[in-house]
Amino acid sequence: MSALPATVFLQAPSFRYCLYIVAFLLMIQGLRGLAGPRTAVRGNRIAAVGMAVAVIATLLDPKEGNWGLIAAGIVVGTLIGVPAARKVKMTAMPQMVALFNGVGGGAVALISWVDYRSHGSSYATHCVVAPRALTPHVLANYALAHQLCNLHAGVGVQVAGVATYVALFSVAGAIIGSISFWGSNIAFGKLQEILPGRPITLGRLQQPINVLLLLAALAAGGALVDGVHSELLFIGMLVAAALLGNFVVLPIGGADMPVVIALLNAFTGVSAAATGMALNNPAMIVFGMMVGASGSILTKLMADAMNRSIPAIIAGGFGGGAEVAAAVADGKVGSVRSISAADAAIQLAYANSVVIVPGYGMAVAQAQHAVRELASELEKRGVEVKYAIHPVAGRMPGHMNVLLAEADVPYDQLKEMEEINPEFPRTDVSLVIGANDVTNPAAKNNPSSPLYGMPILEVAESRAVIVIKRSLNPGFAGIDNELYYDPKTSMLFGDAKQAVSEIVAALAEV
Ligand code: NAP
Repeated sequence: MSALPATVFLQAPSFRYCLYIVAFLLMIQGLRGLAGPRTAVRGNRIAAVGMAVAVIATLLDPKEGNWGLIAAGIVVGTLIGVPAARKVKMTAMPQMVALFNGVGGGAVALISWVDYRSHGSSYATHCVVAPRALTPHVLANYALAHQLCNLHAGVGVQVAGVATYVALFSVAGAIIGSISFWGSNIAFGKLQEILPGRPITLGRLQQPINVLLLLAALAAGGALVDGVHSELLFIGMLVAAALLGNFVVLPIGGADMPVVIALLNAFTGVSAAATGMALNNPAMIVFGMMVGASGSILTKLMADAMNRSIPAIIAGGFGGGAEVAAAVADGKVGSVRSISAADAAIQLAYANSVVIVPGYGMAVAQAQHAVRELASELEKRGVEVKYAIHPVAGRMPGHMNVLLAEADVPYDQLKEMEEINPEFPRTDVSLVIGANDVTNPAAKNNPSSPLYGMPILEVAESRAVIVIKRSLNPGFAGIDNELYYDPKTSMLFGDAKQAVSEIVAALAEV
């Protein structure tokens, strides 16, 4: 038996398909790992290996050839991506995700464009003169050809061209990828404060213009699939989709961007899956569907946790920043009790149980290490310390988990909302650090509040509450928090990191 040459073996479709299956298994395992903070890092690494295996399997395809360009792409991508991912601050993570996700959608649109340049002239099945006459046997097997080209034996005509479904998927991938890329760029610009975070709208013309752009992109795509061959039309379709991506995201307030990013992430996945169908690439199909499905689930979970519908978020105008009325401490109706770090230290030191409620302000102040130090000091005094984690505290899912993990807070002290809420009535002191909306009792008892119905951390149920924030300014939702006027609540005004460090220092004196 003669040995198979290595290249033939490695390039054989059956071997490459085996590699794809390995890649899928690794990807699924990786996603499972991402479900919990303990396994997230390992899950990420496993998924990265899965992606590498899929890339290798694709590059082994004998049809791949331009090695110089492929190597250049890998070098440029690595040189930009690795330092950017290493240097990014935790608070800038949402815009980083927006950028990386958008690049994925842009890549899909470009792949579809290249595919169109190669095969676009054969979109739509059509009749061509065959090199030789067709036999009755061949005709019998091609009923469609019979119908389309009115064939009969002996006539040298047959059906040719790119199958309609291939053209359809390629064009769909281009439209969705372009929307995702250009929408993600706006999301990045808003979060990076290159663009104003407030909603930017075209007023009453906004919706009609969006509908027109969508119809234009669909009409151009339909014409291309139907066999109209024009690269200009393809570019026009990409431009209409690009404008649509921009115009859909511009009216959405900067603070809603994490939800939009998750939605655009799902779009990128779907566009990759569509183009994978067109290119017959199993990795793009499967990974694209995984990204599409997980992005959609994440979008739904975030919207549910904020008690808002996805269409309401897309419609924009919430948490826009500029239109939000800022309530400052001295001009406020009702009175709040302001305390010093020393007062807070005494209250905490003599408590049996303390629940720390972190929020966006802790992330901004980068106070997580100081918070961990405070918890250790309290534990040394026999105080039981737990952390209450709201699913949308901060500005991205898992924001608090990641920050607290960075400060080595033990995972078993992090309690999800459903788990910790029944414990608040037995809690001596709830220490709210830079959290606002996720503690607002209006979500439970004020039907006219925009937050009404959003599940909250019920800190108001605990025996005493200390809130650390810089002022009485509202949070993301732009509304006042009645918790601050509760007689049980004491306000410690200041930057979260500084205030917590001052409490730690004051504890030494208690
Ligand atoms: P929040 O309601 O936005 O409130 C954060 C508070 O932090 C502010 O009131 C601010 O008050 C304070 N703060 C800011 N910088 C601070 C600093 N350096 N030191 C101390 N305090 C500081 O935050 P949240 O309670 O975490 O709620 C998250 C909100 O974001 C929710 O409304 C949620 O729906 C929304 N959201 C979340 C996600 C997600 O995935 N997590 C996605 C989209 C939207 P001062 O200015 O007075 O200091």
